[in-house]
Amino acid sequence: MSSLSLKKVEKIYPGGVKAIQSMNFDIKDGEFVVLVGPSGCGKSTMLRLIAGLEEITKGEIYIDDELVNDKEPADRDIAMVFQNYALYPHMTVFENMAYGLKNRKIKKEKINELVNEVAKTLELSDLLLRKPKALSGGQRQRVAMGRAIVREPKVFLFDEPLSNLDAKLRVQMRLEIKQLQERLGVTSIYVTHDQIEAMTLGQRLVLMEKGRIEQIGTPIEVYEYPSSIFVASFIGSPPMNLVKGKMIRKSELELNGGLVIKSESFEDFDIDKQITIGVRPEHIVLNKKAECSIKVNTHNFERQGADSFIYGTVLNREDKIIARVPHDYDYKNHKTIDFHFDYTNMHCFDSNTGLRLL
Ligand code: ADP
Repeated sequence: MSSLSLKKVEKIYPGGVKAIQSMNFDIKDGEFVVLVGPSGCGKSTMLRLIAGLEEITKGEIYIDDELVNDKEPADRDIAMVFQNYALYPHMTVFENMAYGLKNRKIKKEKINELVNEVAKTLELSDLLLRKPKALSGGQRQRVAMGRAIVREPKVFLFDEPLSNLDAKLRVQMRLEIKQLQERLGVTSIYVTHDQIEAMTLGQRLVLMEKGRIEQIGTPIEVYEYPSSIFVASFIGSPPMNLVKGKMIRKSELELNGGLVIKSESFEDFDIDKQITIGVRPEHIVLNKKAECSIKVNTHNFERQGADSFIYGTVLNREDKIIARVPHDYDYKNHKTIDFHFDYTNMHCFDSNTGLRLL
């Protein structure tokens, strides 16, 4: 087990793409951290820099206080699990799992012992003589993890390991990975663009955008106090509703659609300042009045089992808005409905910088 520290890490690819811009963060011994963000934000690059598969342009990477910038990947004691599993097709499950140990000249008896032990943990004992092509997707993924675990690495890196699996298996493997990581207590970094995976797996999330960190925090912190419009709209499904507005008088904000919100908390904002208000779909109520209400032209209704969602636009027909309602809500199409919400569940952002204000 190990801690990991990144100090002002930068990566510019040949050709000039600035994939990582001065990233700083520390990961504690045994912690499970998820790097999450849209495609192209630099997640895989970050993992590859930590693994040593790419050279960093600037900055320092420490594993257990040891600078590893110039260490070869094989000497960093890191195991990586990829989305395409990267198993050797001509080798059995046992040989795949034993491969890294053989290369390290570990004795045959010891290899047998280690592989069998890990196979037991991952329920692979009956499959050890099979080749990868005779395994299901989930089993292949488990072999890839087994191969990483037998090496007893200091750090695990997961690069979107579940993206090739179907939805049901993805949920199952997600739970397995979480339990396994808790049991083994190995410091882990997990890359995904899937915010549900990020929310459920990570003890802490690192939200990335355009090679920079937007926010670091526990899943609940990030959900309840998104630091920017970007984070607010990335985490949460359906995403947070965002309605634009402008300060019209001292402490008075007028939203698109005409709703004027008066609040002392707006006191310090200049007249004409552009403000965006965020409200999560579950914080909108229809049947009982709250502090604020906004008229919404509704145009769609979707039942998703336990919950249903109403889709609409604020009266100006520009800002989209979604409300979560009970599954048996009686929806009449194309109606104008009052959506209510209160101050405690309202987020406030600067429309120009995108940053959280309150
Ligand atoms: P993510 O994993 O978040 O999808 P990547 O780390 O793969 O993002 O990519 C970050 C940026 O770096 C992208 O703009 C991508 O096109 C660029 N990039 C990735 N690999 C290379 C490479 N080998 N050479 C040049 N540019 C690259």
